[in-house]
Amino acid sequence: MAITGAAELLATWEAGLAEAPTGRALLLHRTARPDVDATTLPVLPVGEREADLFALRRALFGERMQVRLACLVCGEDMEFDLDAGEFARSLGGPGGSVVRVQQDGWDVEFRLPGVADLTAAARSADPRAALLARCLVSAARDGAVVAAAELPVPVQRRIAEAVEAADPGADVTLNIACPECGAATRAELDIASYLWTELDAWARDLLLDVHLLATSYGWSEPEILALSPLRRRYYLELCADV
Ligand SMILES: [Zn+2]
Repeated sequence: MAITGAAELLATWEAGLAEAPTGRALLLHRTARPDVDATTLPVLPVGEREADLFALRRALFGERMQVRLACLVCGEDMEFDLDAGEFARSLGGPGGSVVRVQQDGWDVEFRLPGVADLTAAARSADPRAALLARCLVSAARDGAVVAAAELPVPVQRRIAEAVEAADPGADVTLNIACPECGAATRAELDIASYLWTELDAWARDLLLDVHLLATSYGWSEPEILALSPLRRRYYLELCADV
């Protein structure tokens, strides 16, 4: 992955300010995967996107992610570290974007849902049926074509299992034992919103740095953003010493 420059990242943040969370997630994914066409990104399997975002997080802010969570039972504040690199490696599925279920005369091909599919399905009156209809590639029983709406529940369940096995990162669930009461708290980790929060804090700090350096040295914003973080830090320390 290419490490994006400060000016480019700041532009991504600025564009994201006006966006809803889904738009921000897409902007982050674009930053993570500049090699992929923008129209293809929303149809990549959800787990692949999560792996991409964890890899971006590692590239921008390092491996160690601090997560805070309140115990659901006693309310104890729990703080722990996660390894972004490990998620980036483990969440990517075995590859391919279509799963195939063959059982009891059934032969079903199903595309792994992307963010675009989940968003569209969520807007429908029956999200499960809508997702099934959107992502079904082909379905046949004993050679005869069957429509998505006519798939029996056990076959639907087999498809869901196959999707989960092929795209394990689609749902990142943490299971944390409370050090106070011992109860386990389950929580979903939304890497897109986690990373956005970090990017937002980073951008606001950077703008303050630009302000301080511009005031002290009379440099322009592009000049200051072109400095390496190390040099920027060094000049800021010199300003503070005066
Ligand atoms: Zn507890």
